[in-house]
Amino acid sequence: MKSILQDLKFEEIENLILSYGEKKFRAKQLYDGLMKGKKISEINISADLKARLLETFEDEPVKIIKTLTSKLDGTEKYLFSLADGNVIEGVLMKYKYGNTQCVSTQVGCRMGCKFCASTLGGLVRNLTSGEILAQVLTVNALHANGKQRGVTNIVLMGSGEPLDNYENVVSFLKNVSAEGGVNISPRNISLSTCGLVPKIYALADEGLPVNLTVSLHQTTDGGRARTMPIAKKYSIDEILKACEHYFEKTGRRYIFEYSLIAGENCANHDAQNLIRLLKGKPCHVNLIRLNEVEERGLKSVSDKQAYAFMQTLIDGGLSASVRRSLGSDIAGACGQLRVSYLKNS
Ligand code: SAH
Repeated sequence: MKSILQDLKFEEIENLILSYGEKKFRAKQLYDGLMKGKKISEINISADLKARLLETFEDEPVKIIKTLTSKLDGTEKYLFSLADGNVIEGVLMKYKYGNTQCVSTQVGCRMGCKFCASTLGGLVRNLTSGEILAQVLTVNALHANGKQRGVTNIVLMGSGEPLDNYENVVSFLKNVSAEGGVNISPRNISLSTCGLVPKIYALADEGLPVNLTVSLHQTTDGGRARTMPIAKKYSIDEILKACEHYFEKTGRRYIFEYSLIAGENCANHDAQNLIRLLKGKPCHVNLIRLNEVEERGLKSVSDKQAYAFMQTLIDGGLSASVRRSLGSDIAGACGQLRVSYLKNS
C-alpha cells in the first residue's frame, strides 16, 4: 500500500511540496482540494506534480463501494473499501441541527464485547489518521451544499476501539478540527470507548475537548467482565475516576452508553445500581436498545421496557435518554454490514 496524503497536517504538506521544489502556494491548492474530498488526480495542480504525488500516495484511500439509504429518515450506511482491499463501514444520520457521521477507527476490533459484530473476526489492523479523515472528507463532499458542511458532527462509534488506536485517532482529531481544513470543532465530536482507563487520562491532557462516551453496559465488575473482556483489566471504579478527571480537565460532561440486553442488565436492581453509581456526577446515560446480532444470540428489550428503565433512572435523579433508532429499515448493528459483505464475498 502507498502512503496516505491525508495523514499529513497542512504544514507537513507544505514541507513536502517545498521538498519537491514547487512553490509554496501549491500546498494550499493541494490541501484545499483534499479537504473538499477530491482525489489527488482530480485536484487542479500541474500534471507533473500529480504524477509525482501519485508515485508515493494513494489517489483515493477510502472509496464508497455501497450505499444503503433509509426510506424512513434518510439515514445512509456506507461500505468503504481501503487501498489494501479491506472494508469498513460508516453511517450518516440526519438531524434538524445537522448531519452526524459515525466513523470507524479500526478494521475489526480486538475488544471482544459479547454483543458486538465489529469484533467477530478480531482486529485486522488500525486505520491511519488519514483513513479516518478520508471517511469524513468523502461523506462531507457528498452532502456539502454550497458553503454549508455536509457533516457537522462526528461520532467515533463505527468499528474499532478508538483508544486502542490512540496516536492515529488523536492525529485525526487534530486534523479534522484544524482551521483551514474541514474544521469540525472537537465539541461536535464524540469519542466512544469501552473504557481503556490510562488512555482516558491521556486524552484528557491533549487539549481536545471532545465529548467522552464510555460503554458501561453493566453495573458490577463481575457482570461487566462477562459482557466486555476489557472489564477484567479496569474496574468501574477506575473508569469513574478517569471520567471525573476528564471532566475536571475539559469541563465536558461525560456520557455512559448502556445497551439494554434482555435478561442481562435491565432489571430494577440494575437501574438502582446505576443510580447509586452515577447520582450527582456530571454525566448522562444514553440507553441503547440492543441491536440483535445473529451470531451473538442476545435479545433486545421492548420500547416499553427501555422507556420504563429510563424513567426509573430519571426518578432516581439521573439524566437519561433512550437513543432514537434511525435507519431501522436498513438496520444492522455496528459491523454487521461488513460481516455480511465478508460472508458473501
Ligand atoms: N469501541 C467503542 C465504540 C463502539 S460502537 C466502544 O466500545 O465504545 C458504539 C456503542 O455501541 C458502544 O457503546 C457499543 O458497546 C455499542 N454496541 C455495539 N454493538 C451493539 C449492539 N449490537 N447493540 C447495541 N449496542 C451496541
